[in-house]
Amino acid sequence: MTAIKPQPGIMDIALYVGGKSHVEGVTNVVKLSSNENPFGPSPAAQEAVKRSVHELHRYPSTDHRGLREAIGEMHGVDADRVICGVGSDEIITFLCQAYSGPGTEVVYTEHGFAMYRISALAAGATPVEVKERERVTDVDAILAGCTDKTRLVFIANPNNPTGTMIGLAEIERLAEGLPEQCLLVLDGAYAEYVEGYDGGAKLVEHRDNVVMTRTFSKLYGLGGLRVGWGYGPKDVIDVLNRVRGPFNLSGTALAAAEAAVRDTAYVEKCRSENTRLRTWLAEALAEHGVPSDTSTANFVLARFADQAEAEACDLYLQSQGLIVRRVGGYNLPNCLRITVGDEPSCRRVAHNIGLFKAGAR
Ligand SMILES: *Cc1c(COP(=O)(O)O)cnc(C)c1O
Repeated sequence: MTAIKPQPGIMDIALYVGGKSHVEGVTNVVKLSSNENPFGPSPAAQEAVKRSVHELHRYPSTDHRGLREAIGEMHGVDADRVICGVGSDEIITFLCQAYSGPGTEVVYTEHGFAMYRISALAAGATPVEVKERERVTDVDAILAGCTDKTRLVFIANPNNPTGTMIGLAEIERLAEGLPEQCLLVLDGAYAEYVEGYDGGAKLVEHRDNVVMTRTFSKLYGLGGLRVGWGYGPKDVIDVLNRVRGPFNLSGTALAAAEAAVRDTAYVEKCRSENTRLRTWLAEALAEHGVPSDTSTANFVLARFADQAEAEACDLYLQSQGLIVRRVGGYNLPNCLRITVGDEPSCRRVAHNIGLFKAGAR
């Protein structure tokens, strides 16, 4: 036995299993397992990446001013209270590192995003999982789950993998009811998909205990470049900037994200196509006897009779070249999460689920 051991909590972290991207022996595979934008990144972002190759020998900006100002302008937020990270995952990591640790608790919900538990454990904190109400965030259960040890509460709104969301009045009630030493983190990875929803930005401005996180990985189609951001009270952003590495984002990533956030026409097109195809997909699945909750994100959580049926359907879809996501790890073993793809992909997945329900195996 070696005397060299990691900090408590680290070995409780299960290694992350990502969405699959290929199936042995099957061609023409469609990946609907990671909530990626089926239309890819904006052409303007692609151009920015090409231009950036001439500057690869330069260290990138350390204050991210260009990107923060673009975010400020396009989202109507104060650029001085924005922090950029290597995906919003890194902002979640900063929050846990800076505000939680041994002897403290981090609260999230039973079908909440995997990074909350991982980052809490990595910081040495105790993860606390509270119930949802029929796959919807339950504010009362969260409040009941908080103690004088709670430092952070994470909710994704819309949530992944349920696709459901709660209203701003409920979120405000949550922020209002939290213990005074506790910060509420609103994960807005899918906020752009909800027309007219600011992800909680206004709430951040009116309170001193709310932080919002956002990402370029979903609607902006830049998951491969790893860019996210956080918006919070000035003193919280100052704290997070102290744990942030000075060159955490590459110049290429910064340039692409800045171009993407300014390409409002592309954003609008992706949002409206997603809404149209998501509605179509949910209705087609329902006609095949596969219900789902009303989704406000870029995926649908398809519910099956039980775990066995969900897994059999997943295997059948794989054999047909369709990769969706099992969500047993999110306490939803009877469900499959299906990303809203382009129209041919949506038709293909609905058609094959229909065949599966009609008896194909
Ligand atoms: C995809 C996702 C993220 C974002 O991850 P990035 O690190 O920004 O790629 C954050 N939260 C939720 C709930 C997500 O589904």
